Parts: sequence; structure tokens; C-alpha cells
Amino acid sequence: MAERTVVIIGATGSIGTQTLDVLKRLKDFKLVGFTYHTNGELAERIAKEFNVKDFVSTFEDPEEAVRLVENKKPDITLVAVPGFVSLRITLGVIPNTKRIALASKEALVCGGWLVRERLKKFKTELVPVDSEHSAIFRIFDENVTRIALTASGGALRDWNVEDIKDATIDDVLSHPVWRMGKRVTVDSATMVNKVFEVFEAMEIFDLSRDAIDVFMHREGIVHGMVYLKDGTVKMNAFKADMRIPIAYSLTHPDVVLDFQEPKLSILTFEDVDLERYPLFSKSFEIHDSYALRTAFNAADEVAVEAFLKGKIKFWDIVEIVERTLSMFEKGEPRDLKDLEEIDERAREIAGDMV
Ligand code: NDP
Ligand code: MG
Repeated sequence: MAERTVVIIGATGSIGTQTLDVLKRLKDFKLVGFTYHTNGELAERIAKEFNVKDFVSTFEDPEEAVRLVENKKPDITLVAVPGFVSLRITLGVIPNTKRIALASKEALVCGGWLVRERLKKFKTELVPVDSEHSAIFRIFDENVTRIALTASGGALRDWNVEDIKDATIDDVLSHPVWRMGKRVTVDSATMVNKVFEVFEAMEIFDLSRDAIDVFMHREGIVHGMVYLKDGTVKMNAFKADMRIPIAYSLTHPDVVLDFQEPKLSILTFEDVDLERYPLFSKSFEIHDSYALRTAFNAADEVAVEAFLKGKIKFWDIVEIVERTLSMFEKGEPRDLKDLEEIDERAREIAGDMV
């Protein structure tokens, strides 16, 4: 195999460091650059270990990430930064890389059509990193009529609905299946993460909302499924280890690394309980509006940050997101600038509520 060059956007995070772990085990892939945001100490260590000279902080300016990719023109750019800013970075790097390995679901949630147009224009390939989408990507073909994503239910899945309202930061961050960044862990407990993933799947697989099912699947072993028209359902199962989808996003279509298979036992699939996860209903209500999807993401970003700083209670996230959304209309954003305006306005509104 010819050597492939890789740039990681967000190398100091949960996905970023797991990608480094994968790269250590892969031959023929070379890290040629990366970004970090605030963790300069870890960035220095990574640079030394991987012998990389080109690493930049995005703290002053997210365009640093775009310029890095412009300079390095890597075969693969893995984008793993949380939040709306990932849209601008993803759009910015598409022209200068052959493949985007995309972890940042927010880019597709807010500006899916812009990302798709740009991928097409520059003939850049997108391979998902998110576990559910990676699972489906690997079993998707032209006979697929519908898909299903699975959800763990997050840290509070077994709590009384009444008690959930007062859950503490520590409670919410004790995820039963995955070790992830803080925002996505809180978003798992509200199922906002699954709303995002439904929109992400609509974009990646070009499906309508009603062609996507979501099941609670406590065991965290089946990550995605596809339905074929002859009544068969194919499921893709693997251990809840993000390094498996990360490795695939780099090596696709080849499977290169060895990982342990999952321990198979009883597997359960249940419908999502809307009383426990009221925000999951947004996946039905706002899927057809990029304006509302962007406002939803912004309000959630602000609310989750406030919760993690101890400024609001867990259940206030639900109220802040719902009330912020109620102030927006479906609208027809035309470009990144329109989305940035919506993002900013939603942040202000949600910030005032905090
Ligand atoms: P983390 O919070 O662990 O890491 C975030 C990374 O992005 C760090 O390198 C951080 O830098 C950098 N960063 C933070 N804020 C900004 C910003 N405003 N601009 C540019 N860079 C920034 O997040 P995760 O790795 O968990 O998640 C990254 C993305 O991947 C998210 O979109 C998430 O939804 C998605 N994802 C994550 C999964 C997981 O298992 N963790 C699973 C599926 C999807 P620094 O630390 O130096 O400040
Ligand atoms: Mg996921």
C-alpha cells in the first residue's frame, strides 16, 4: 500500500487521541499535521512522539485548521472538534484533501447540504467516524430501503424520570458504554446526540426522516442496521471501542487492524421513551429545516456548557432548548453566513435564559 498522509483536526480530544492510538498501529499512514485548541502541553507531546512539525492551535482562529490542510494537502483529514465551528472547518478543508473522516456530526446537522455540495464539487470522499454511521456505511448498498440506529440511552437510562431532573454533573458523565468528550456524553443522556445522528444519517445516506428508525439497545454491541426490500435486516455488531470505526475511516475499503470481537449474548431492542427523552421528539419536528437544526444545536451547546459549569440543572437543558427553538422559524438559509447568523442569535437567546 502506498503511504497515506493524515491530518487530525482536534488531535487532543477523545476521538483525536484514539486516532493517534490507531495510527501507531497502522503501517503506511503518516500523521503530517494536527490542530489542538487549548491543550498545548499535550500537543507538544504528540508532536514529539509522531515527529510532526506542523501543528497549530485553533484557539485564536478556526481558519488555522483550514490553512494547515491547505499547506499539507493530506490524503485524509479527520475532523473531530465539537460544535458548530466544525461546519466551517469541514467546508474549509474539503478542497484540499481526498477524504474527510468525519466525527463532527454538528457539521452535517447544521449545514448538511453545504457539505454535500462541496464534497461533490471537489470530488472529496466522506467516510463517517461516528460508530452508528460507520456500522451502516459498511453494510449499506443499493438494495437498502431503511436503516436503524441504536442508542445506549446514556447515563440516566435506569433512573426514575422524576429523579432525572436533579441529576448532577457526575451522574450525567458516567456513561454506561462509551468514554467520550463531555458534550457528547451529556447529549447522550438527553438523546440530543441521537437527534443529531438521525440528521447525520439523513445526509450521509441520502434518506428521509421516516426511513430511519432508532432503537434503545442497552448492550451497545449492534451499532447500525439496514433493511432490504425482501424483509431481511442486516445488523453490524462490534465492541464499543471507537478505535474500530476510526481505523475503518482511515483504511476503508480495507480492513487492516485486529480488534477483539464482541461477546454475543442476549441483545435487546426497545423503542425510545419520549417521556424520559423529550428532546428526542425534535428529530421528528425539525428534520426538514437547517435553520431549526442550527438553532437546536446552538441552544444545546450553550445549555450543556452552562450545565457543566454548574449554572443550571440538568432538566433546564430541555427547557432552554425548547424555548429557544420556539423563537425560530423554518426559514431558508442559503449559505454559511445565514447559518452563522442563526447560530449567533440562538446562542444569545439561550445565553439570556441561562
Ligand atoms: P473532546 O471534547 O474530547 O475533544 C475536542 C477536540 O476539539 C479537542 O482536541 C479540543 O482541543 C478541540 N476543540 C475544542 N473546542 C474547539 C473549538 N472551538 N475549535 C476547534 N477545536 C476545538 O470531543 P470528542 O473527541 O468527544 O468529540 C469530537 C467530535 O466527535 C464531536 O463532534 C462529537 O460529537 C464527535 N463524536 C465523538 C465520539 C466520541 O466517542 N468521543 C463518538 C462519535 C462522535 P483542546 O482539548 O486542545 O482544547
Ligand atoms: Mg454515535
